[in-house]
Amino acid sequence: MTRKLFVTTALPYANAAFHIGHMMEYIQADIWVRFQRMQAEGDGLREVHFVGADDTHGTPIMIAAEKEGITPQEFVAKIAAGRPQYLDGFHIAFDNWYSTDSPENVELSQGIYRKLREAGLIQTKTVDRFFDPVKGMFLADRNIKGECPKCHAKDQYGDNCEVCGAAYQPTDLINPYSVFTNATPILKPSEQYFFKLSDPRCFEFLRDWLNTPGRLQPEMVNKVSEWLGEAGEKLADWDISRDAPYFGIPIPDAPNKYFYVWLDAPVGYLASLKNYCGKKGIDYDALLADPGTEQIHFIGKDIVSFHLLFWPAMLEFAKHPTIDRMRVAVHGHLTVNNEKMSKSRGTGISPLRYLNLGMNPEWLRYYLAYKLNSRVEDLDFTGDDFVARVNSDLIGKFVNIASRCAGFIAKKFDGKLASSLSAASQEWIKKALVAEDGSERQASIAANFESREFGKALREIMEIADVANRFVDENKPWILAKDEGKVAELHDVCTAALILFRQLTILLSPVLPGVAANVRTFLNDAAYTWAETSVANGAAWQPMLGRTIGAYSHLMTRVDAKMIEDLFDAPAQQAAAAPAPAAAVEAAPALEAPAAGDIEELSPEISIDDFTKIDLRIAKIVNCEHVEGAGKLLRLTLDVGEGRYRNVFSGIKSMYKPEDLVGKLTVMVANLAPRKMKFGVSEGMVLAASAKDEKANPGIYVLNPWPGAEPGMRVR
Ligand SMILES: [Zn+2]
Repeated sequence: MTRKLFVTTALPYANAAFHIGHMMEYIQADIWVRFQRMQAEGDGLREVHFVGADDTHGTPIMIAAEKEGITPQEFVAKIAAGRPQYLDGFHIAFDNWYSTDSPENVELSQGIYRKLREAGLIQTKTVDRFFDPVKGMFLADRNIKGECPKCHAKDQYGDNCEVCGAAYQPTDLINPYSVFTNATPILKPSEQYFFKLSDPRCFEFLRDWLNTPGRLQPEMVNKVSEWLGEAGEKLADWDISRDAPYFGIPIPDAPNKYFYVWLDAPVGYLASLKNYCGKKGIDYDALLADPGTEQIHFIGKDIVSFHLLFWPAMLEFAKHPTIDRMRVAVHGHLTVNNEKMSKSRGTGISPLRYLNLGMNPEWLRYYLAYKLNSRVEDLDFTGDDFVARVNSDLIGKFVNIASRCAGFIAKKFDGKLASSLSAASQEWIKKALVAEDGSERQASIAANFESREFGKALREIMEIADVANRFVDENKPWILAKDEGKVAELHDVCTAALILFRQLTILLSPVLPGVAANVRTFLNDAAYTWAETSVANGAAWQPMLGRTIGAYSHLMTRVDAKMIEDLFDAPAQQAAAAPAPAAAVEAAPALEAPAAGDIEELSPEISIDDFTKIDLRIAKIVNCEHVEGAGKLLRLTLDVGEGRYRNVFSGIKSMYKPEDLVGKLTVMVANLAPRKMKFGVSEGMVLAASAKDEKANPGIYVLNPWPGAEPGMRVR
């Protein structure tokens, strides 16, 4: 049977911008979706429909709009207009982003309600409703706060506890109060509409639905089984109506009554799909009726009761076709430095600030994916851990392979890869891609992506990267490049290394779609499919042999620890004089000591006074040219903000073309005595790094400050 996937994330409430927790959920779902889209299905690739929407109805948005003097629709439109910068910024590729305040949602919600009524599952009861005696109005659940009846957390809303996740009626709250007036609400009778969750049919259905193997995570099965009780005796009817004035969908045949927002919010999943199908000319009813169609909801653990009790029961008794093929994937919350995020404590992370600081969205995608698994566990963002993980894996292990080999292909072989591979190189490729038991690593990586064990998938991909790096280290292309007799060997080694690099890129592409797109341009590749990762028929390397590739350009920079400090919210604006939040610095995890490299011995210790004698300055390279008759030198014209230019000769010609350097910033020793050379006077020295063993690594690397540095700034 052909699998077709209908995938959603929880619908965010449209009264605020996204926070980092939203981005984590969207990244998790987006990685899963991108992985699925690479899978072969029938004659092509798997059909996946990934949709989201803003959850728009209910009292909080009414109140917020009223405060701003605009309609709820205008308020929601304003919030919706801000969504793309986040979604595009973090490469989250929904097929459709819609709204629960839409004609499709009205039609679908009212349709489901009518079917539930036909099934005898809607009942009216006259109930006591909370009424604010000071303001003279019925109070919505969110307008009442009080103590949770289950876990006794204070200040919980009237419908659902954000601490323990329990759902209840506002009348269940202990010591309730009105959020408008702080008055103790009084109870007044009012006729309301209920979904009869206490009906034995609901219990029987839910018990079987929950316990279908593979549908829910084991901890969720346990949790919801507790809510059901032995025979459903704990299931209470669900009040689905609210009195006017209310921003929501009218209940059919019930004047002045509206659906409670949590009735129509999940129906918004279907409304967004239906709207998308309309745009794309897909038959919505046929898609849902297709026995291959699966419905998967990614949600956080705080809204489990709505998705694992009410939602499946609603769909079942409204005869929703995919109810037997519906799954819910629950994730834990994101904490920062092991604390619940809090703006006042300066521990929040703003997704927009992250992007505005120039931080690469794929760093965060990788880091979160590395920490995500299939369980309902909280996961923690720790600054030092983030820097170490990204720099070690993505830069040190992954990008490094291409940056060490691509240049030789361009310079020595006109950009053309070898047309065959030596037996030794083929062996290395197999060693990297095939596990010790003979199974292909891509198969277990795929199984881990499928089951949302992203961390396991990435650890295995990094094991492949380790083998690829060992291959480069042992074959040393930079040494081969110096020996005219080893041209063929150099070609072979660099080709094999780039083949492995391409394999890693394909495996990582669900997580790093932007990098993958750049690698495809570099390697002249078409869109990547999972089938290309197999070594069985040489699919992993055959297409690369003899291919002409494009120029390599830098794929990703390292994370600067300074960016992490800037990322955390300042505790409060007026506290500017207080020291910056140092949480990321203090909470240093115990890192394993890195392996010692073959480095030059450290110089004897100096005092700070010795150091300050050296005046290091940021310099702008305003011009750069070759020096006639000098094999190693470039002539730099530098601006260090003094109102004049400096002439400096630098022995970096082997590494840089003049046009690479013009316009860039670097660091120079500005108070070095001028030195008369054969070609002119050098007025200072540009700093550059080089290896102890220049034969093993002849590179000379000019320093380049982070963005924001300006000519003339002192380096201290
Ligand atoms: Zn609670």
